[in-house]
Amino acid sequence: MLDWCAIDTVLLDMDGTLLDLNFDNVLWNEHIPLRYAEHHGMSCEAAREHLFAQFSTHRNTLRFYCLDHWSEVTGMDVVAMHRELTHLIRYRPHARAFLERMMSSGRHVRLVTNSHRDGIDIKNEFTGLTELTHLTISSHDYDAPKESQEFWQRFARHHPFDKARALFIDDNVNVLDAARTYGIAQLCIVSQPDSARPPRVGFDYPAFNGFDEIMP
Ligand SMILES: [Mg+2]
Repeated sequence: MLDWCAIDTVLLDMDGTLLDLNFDNVLWNEHIPLRYAEHHGMSCEAAREHLFAQFSTHRNTLRFYCLDHWSEVTGMDVVAMHRELTHLIRYRPHARAFLERMMSSGRHVRLVTNSHRDGIDIKNEFTGLTELTHLTISSHDYDAPKESQEFWQRFARHHPFDKARALFIDDNVNVLDAARTYGIAQLCIVSQPDSARPPRVGFDYPAFNGFDEIMP
């Protein structure tokens, strides 16, 4: 599936790629609406409807991923709410072994995420993820989401790499499309980002679930 001889740089998404998206789905689809309903004295259903409308307005923009924005919109401390679900923070199958293998292979390993820095810090606290990469990049650092060309241009300007010899793995088709347009040579998608949901099919990109399937 992958030509490992032609890969010097490995770019990896965090949520839904290295880590189980179940945490994020439970947090945003269930936990935050529940807390919002309690906080504002409304039904769970009404809270969900209100928040989901807000979420969809900002999808594919940096604001969608900005915890400061959502704390402001909800009037609640969204970062603190992450801490109520930390038991759900976990690696996806064989992700940790894959990172260790990549680090010892001499390749350059970069975490490239749309996650806000506060989100990265909490996930890192429970996984030690950033110690298993050479560089941690949040798209917030470049004021543009991974779905945009601006992100890839600014990221590469600050941290140059040979895109003809790079691999990028993500669970988001829109992000992979942007990386393909930018010219990243090898792209892969995660078929089952959330362990509690069924695998997805029908992608333009090579797909896998466990990292053991693509391990060199
Ligand atoms: Mg992701």
